[in-house]
Amino acid sequence: MSSVVLKQVEKAYGPVLAVRGIDLVIPDGKFVVLVGPSGCGKTTTLRMIAGLESVTSGSIFIGDKDVTNLEPKDRDISMVFQNYALYPHLSVAENIAFPLLARGANRTDIQPRIDEVAAALSISQLLNRKPKELSGGQQQRVAIGRAIARSPRVFLFDEPLSNLDAKLRVEMRTELLRLQRELSTTAIYVTHDQEEAMTLSDIMVVMRDGLIRQMGKPDDIYENPVDTFVAEFVGSPKMNMITGKLEGNRFASPTGVVTNIQSSNHHNVIIGIRPEDVLISGDVANGMAGRIEIIELLGPRAIVTVKCSNQRITAVVEMAHLLGLTEGLEVGVNLREGRVHIFSVEDGIRITS
Ligand code: ATP
Repeated sequence: MSSVVLKQVEKAYGPVLAVRGIDLVIPDGKFVVLVGPSGCGKTTTLRMIAGLESVTSGSIFIGDKDVTNLEPKDRDISMVFQNYALYPHLSVAENIAFPLLARGANRTDIQPRIDEVAAALSISQLLNRKPKELSGGQQQRVAIGRAIARSPRVFLFDEPLSNLDAKLRVEMRTELLRLQRELSTTAIYVTHDQEEAMTLSDIMVVMRDGLIRQMGKPDDIYENPVDTFVAEFVGSPKMNMITGKLEGNRFASPTGVVTNIQSSNHHNVIIGIRPEDVLISGDVANGMAGRIEIIELLGPRAIVTVKCSNQRITAVVEMAHLLGLTEGLEVGVNLREGRVHIFSVEDGIRITS
């Protein structure tokens, strides 16, 4: 177990600045997820921590040891890759044993550890099979088993679930969380999937263009995104954004007018509202007038898309409140009191009123 600290870490590939000088402190035992759109530098950051990429400048510490120039094998980390990277000619048991044997352990001594890891991942019955005789989900369990067989100071995960189907992803996500809680080992996990980031992380790090845009507890980021980028990236369906003029508690835009905004701002602003905070009623005169375009049923709730003048507004509506709402219906759209986010039109930064 160890903390991981990045100090002004930068990575340039020729003229491309993949990571632009980031500072990051990952406390001992925490599950940290680096998340962001494709090309934001998250994999490069992880690979620099692993020692698979050199840093252009800056330094990396694991515990109090400066590992910036150490080989991966000397950093005491275990990494799980997207493509599993199992040894095809070795059995499951041999794959799990490999990192221990490579460090000089004796085959008989480690058998109990292999059995323990296999049991924890429900793959005990597969120990004699070769990787090609396993499903994708089983292969991923073996890859995780290989990473946890040793007790490294840090686990690194590079999109480990992205080759699995949707159902298996959710199952493995829960298992990873359970394992990490049990092992309490510092873990750094890269994904482009914000839902995976929200559910797995103790600390979520949202990256964009080689920089950290926001870092914190997932629910804090969800509640208080620092800018429109983070606001729209985190949450699904994504936050609605409406540009208009705020005067006291009245917000007027080409989309319509609402009058219950709590703000002392008098500006041209962008207001953001999460779909679950959009209120739809049959009263057209109440709020922004629109017409329901599509209702997508999701079991306990539905996604309702309303076309208001020039813009589509997405709402998440609980089943109990869906009664009477039908596609084509003229409705009034309101924004739940106290739930509106306000951003600058100029640079998208959050404005606190
Ligand atoms: P993805 O989710 O698509 O993997 P990412 O956020 O992990 O994206 P990185 O793989 O870290 O992004 O890449 C960051 C930037 O660095 C991108 O612009 C990418 O094209 C560039 N890059 C990455 N590896 C190299 C390389 N070996 N040579 C040149 N440019 C690279």
